[in-house]
Amino acid sequence: MPQLKEEYDIVIIGSGLGGLLCGYVLAEEGKSVCILEKNAQIGGNLQTFKRDKVKFDSGVHYIGGLDKGQALYPFFRYFNLMDNVEKDLLDKDAYDVISFENDKAHYPHGQGYENFVQQLLRHFPHEEKGLRKYCGEIQRICEKFEWYNLDRDYTETDEMSAFSLSAKQVIASCTSDQKLQKVLAGSNLLYAGDGESSPFYIHALILDSYIGSAYKLKHSDQISKQLRKDIKKMGGHIFIDAEVIKINNTPKFVEYVELAGGETIRGKQFISNIHPTQTFRLLNTEGLRKVNVNRMMQLENTTSAFILYIKLKPNTFKFSNCNRYHFIDEDVWNAHSYDPDNWLKALAIFNSRPNTQTFYAHTLTAMAYMKYEDVKRWEDSFNTTLSESERSDDYVKFKKERAEEMIAALAKIYPDFDSCIESYYTATPLTQRDYTGAIEGGLYGIKKDFNAPVKSFISANTKLDNLFLTGQNVILHGVLGVTISAMVTCQFILGKKYMLDKLKAFA
Ligand SMILES: Cc1cc2nc3c(=O)[nH]c(=O)nc-3n(C[C@H](O)[C@H](O)[C@H](O)COP(=O)(O)OP(=O)(O)OC[C@H]3O[C@@H](n4cnc5c(N)ncnc54)[C@H](O)[C@@H]3O)c2cc1C
Repeated sequence: MPQLKEEYDIVIIGSGLGGLLCGYVLAEEGKSVCILEKNAQIGGNLQTFKRDKVKFDSGVHYIGGLDKGQALYPFFRYFNLMDNVEKDLLDKDAYDVISFENDKAHYPHGQGYENFVQQLLRHFPHEEKGLRKYCGEIQRICEKFEWYNLDRDYTETDEMSAFSLSAKQVIASCTSDQKLQKVLAGSNLLYAGDGESSPFYIHALILDSYIGSAYKLKHSDQISKQLRKDIKKMGGHIFIDAEVIKINNTPKFVEYVELAGGETIRGKQFISNIHPTQTFRLLNTEGLRKVNVNRMMQLENTTSAFILYIKLKPNTFKFSNCNRYHFIDEDVWNAHSYDPDNWLKALAIFNSRPNTQTFYAHTLTAMAYMKYEDVKRWEDSFNTTLSESERSDDYVKFKKERAEEMIAALAKIYPDFDSCIESYYTATPLTQRDYTGAIEGGLYGIKKDFNAPVKSFISANTKLDNLFLTGQNVILHGVLGVTISAMVTCQFILGKKYMLDKLKAFA
């Protein structure tokens, strides 16, 4: 552990991807940076864990837009990640596969817009016009976003005009074929899709990046480890087991933060990488505008999930170089809404293999929505590596029952699946809450709503002169969204033109 400085130029709360990226940018500018992480492991959703000698990724499985000319390319080069994070291109013709119970077809999402159209035309031969319209709509919306297209002049940005479009409605406006609509929306677990609220721009930014190029990461913690290495090299300090329990501020600015261990950390500027509501809970809100405080306290969040991590027996389960989104209930826009006896409506399935020469997978991760209220009765418990505690026997029983339901659903997709399982582990909304600080375990932070876009809009710039926000709640979640959000945060400190020019050199 480094020696604490009396004062830092920049103090960052949370070492999620957003915190680390801001730390990198600012350390590279010669600022003294201190990153404070409550957990034993840095990275937030990039954390990995080992069970039974295999390593699982807790969150991020695949990223898009990494090829030259695409959205993440200049950023990954600037952050020294391009050659230091192992990744493999997913199947060009089917990086994602959408499937439905009682339908034998596997509907592929291919990489490259033309290929995307051609792959789906095999299943929907009369829908070329609709498919091309859909691709055109995605590209038209992505064009509007600053930082997404570095070479465009955004003096008159009109991002806002994209915020009030509904994902479900835009897709429906491209084709009247109901099945194709479902297939096009089929990977909406990537943003906790909800037909009544999900904006099209989120669908567009995410899909555009994957249609551009979709890469499976060997392990998500390679990103956080590489960033840590470089931040340290540039003189930055990163502290683990350093939970911020209080932000000490006047109505105008932050003076210092206080850690659970009693230490105080002073800084000239502060960046919070944690949820805005959590940030406001740590602040002294006296003297701050009540409307603003109330808004921050009442933000609605995306739903949570139950995740099953399976270690597979050697040489039993054939590896597929794609991700799968399987719908038991065909209403793809409503999988998050279920009643207790009809819980499992959709599954996201990711498999991995130890190396590219191997024909068989060694892990499989399956994820399904789960509401926080399903685990609320155990909410007073807390369990992480640093603060281990047994939750209770009925919680263990609950997890086992849900895991068995999920395994039964997987066995319908993959015959003899039971015989491939060596061991399994589970995560619930409480796991997500405890390990990342996500409110009620919400998967992707604040819920965005096309009906009321301003309500969920979070600026990186706060009313306090030296407090900024970053991470998935500013702009967008995911590796791409959080990267752009970090740029937006740092632009308030370093200037937009300066940062844009810097990045353009890596384009
Ligand atoms: C199950 C799952 C699968 C996903 N899959 C993908 C994917 O395949 N591809 C993709 O691009 N994205 C994916 N995402 C989304 C992506 O992982 C997140 O959007 C992104 O990692 C969030 O980064 P963040 O910077 O907002 O911080 P977070 O990851 O939320 O990290 C916040 C950090 O702050 C720390 N913290 C909280 N409170 C305090 C405190 N008081 N003091 C100190 N530290 C604190 C936390 O411990 C944590 O380390 C997935 C997310 C989930 C949940």
